Amino acid sequence: MRLIIMGPPGAGKGTQARYIAEHFSIPAISTGDIFRANVSQGTPLGVEAKKFMDAGEYVPDEVTNLMVRNRIDEPDAEPGFLLDGYPRTVAQVEELDGMIAFTGHRLDAVVVLTVDQDEVVQRLLQRAQTEGRADDTEDVIRRRQEIYTEQTAPLIDVYRDRGLLVEVDGMGEVDDVTKRIFATLDVVSES
Ligand code: ADP
Repeated sequence: MRLIIMGPPGAGKGTQARYIAEHFSIPAISTGDIFRANVSQGTPLGVEAKKFMDAGEYVPDEVTNLMVRNRIDEPDAEPGFLLDGYPRTVAQVEELDGMIAFTGHRLDAVVVLTVDQDEVVQRLLQRAQTEGRADDTEDVIRRRQEIYTEQTAPLIDVYRDRGLLVEVDGMGEVDDVTKRIFATLDVVSES
């Protein structure tokens, strides 16, 4: 399975990504997690990415694309993968198309978590208290939502046109959302 999970900041992508990955025995590849790991280790990639992340801006495509390409080339991603946080721009969609085509495979589905924006801001502010992520302040959350709407939401139409889109209600208990995702993805994986 080659899957993407999308949704606005705070939609619960990371949480659901872990369950989906486990269910299909594929790695969950989170660009946000990879960037954060690089930031905390102080690598050159981390130093570069931090400038953008702290402001809620996207890291430049050329940096992100190369990072994903290298990660997808790892042996554990050979049988498939779930991307969380990538692609986020139309240019990244094209880049990913190239990466997947090169391996002779294709994308199976794109899961979009739909959520209520106001509720999500509350979730993120709560996460700021428990996890202390540098980009979970109210101003930066608003900026991330804006950028998502401008640059990433248009990807939903792109994947809908390709017949790959699976829209799932992301509100409610984590377990219920997971069940909804599996109910739709199990159909995809059997077809
Ligand atoms: P969110 O909780 O908003 O979904 P993530 O943890 O996925 O955030 O990502 C955190 C930050 O990492 C983003 O705000 C952005 O700066 C950077 N980032 C992650 N993925 C990408 C990407 N595909 N393109 C550009 N920047 C990215």
